[in-house]
Amino acid sequence: MRLVFIGPPGAGKGTQAALIIQRYNVVHLSTGDMLRAARDAQTEIGRKADEYMSRGQLVPDDIILAIVEERLSQPDCSRGFLLDGFPRTIPQAEALDQMLAARGTPLDVVLELQVPEEELFRRLAGRGRADDSPEVIRQRLVAYRNQTKPLLDYYGKTGLLRSVDGVGTVDEVFERIIGVLEAVAAKNR
Ligand code: AMP
Repeated sequence: MRLVFIGPPGAGKGTQAALIIQRYNVVHLSTGDMLRAARDAQTEIGRKADEYMSRGQLVPDDIILAIVEERLSQPDCSRGFLLDGFPRTIPQAEALDQMLAARGTPLDVVLELQVPEEELFRRLAGRGRADDSPEVIRQRLVAYRNQTKPLLDYYGKTGLLRSVDGVGTVDEVFERIIGVLEAVAAKNR
């Protein structure tokens, strides 16, 4: 299974992603994790990316596309993958479509986790990550609204989009996700 996981910061994507990859035995590809690792290792890319991350802004597409392309070409991705935090812009989505078309491995599903903004702010404020100060949180929500939400239309038109209510306990939300993914798997069989 090849899936894209979309949702605003604080929606619980990381938690649900960990459960999904375990159940479906797919590779977890989080561009946020990759960028944080590059930043901590103080690589050139990491230093560049941190200028944007520390302000809650999106890292430029060329940097992101280079790291994703490199990762997707590794052999473990052939068992399927969950893209978490990528694509985040229409150009990234178009580039992903091209990469996957060239490999003959199109997406199976795009999963959206829906959580209202007041709830997101409450959750993020309690999380304590370096990019979770109130001003940076606000910026990241703005980036989601302006740059990532248009992807819902983009994928809606392809028929791949499935939306799940992300409010509830971890188990409740995971059950909803499984319901959706099982239906997709059954349709593709
Ligand atoms: P995340 O852990 O997915 O919330 O990502 C943390 C930060 O990394 C974001 O606020 C962005 O600055 C950057 N980032 C992660 N993924 C992307 C992406 N696909 N495009 C641009 N910036 C990204």
